[in-house]
Amino acid sequence: MEKVTIADAKRRMGPADVKRPLTDALGATDFALNYYELAPGDSLGFGYHRHSDQEEVFYVQSGVVTFETESGDVPVESGDVVRFAPGEWQLGSNESDERAVVLAMGAPKEAGELTMVRHCEDCGERTEQTLSLTDERDAVVSSCVDCSAETGRFT
Ligand SMILES: [Zn+2]
Repeated sequence: MEKVTIADAKRRMGPADVKRPLTDALGATDFALNYYELAPGDSLGFGYHRHSDQEEVFYVQSGVVTFETESGDVPVESGDVVRFAPGEWQLGSNESDERAVVLAMGAPKEAGELTMVRHCEDCGERTEQTLSLTDERDAVVSSCVDCSAETGRFT
């Protein structure tokens, strides 16, 4: 058995106030597990996205997370679980005034190809994005694939 105290797991930069990957800490081999704490305005992902090969389940432990889905926005409350199939578009965000705690499980462990879109000011619409680490390794930057403009910076 492997036991991990979530508060001791390393944090990862991103659009969530707290993201603690637990997969490797637990030595999980066949699925991915991530712990999130979202401040108001935070998101679970860098943008509206889909994973080609991975299904995902989100358990909202506390608060409310609003998921943008292919069939509109869906509020998911404390005690709810939701599942997205591989290839299904999604983005969970905290649109409330209170913090939210979420556990995300994905299987298989390797998510396959990530396709992600964000609004680009220069293009005036949502465009496909890439993610990169700054040279100083102090932030993750999202950039528009069409015009290379930076659309977000996450620490
Ligand atoms: Zn652009």
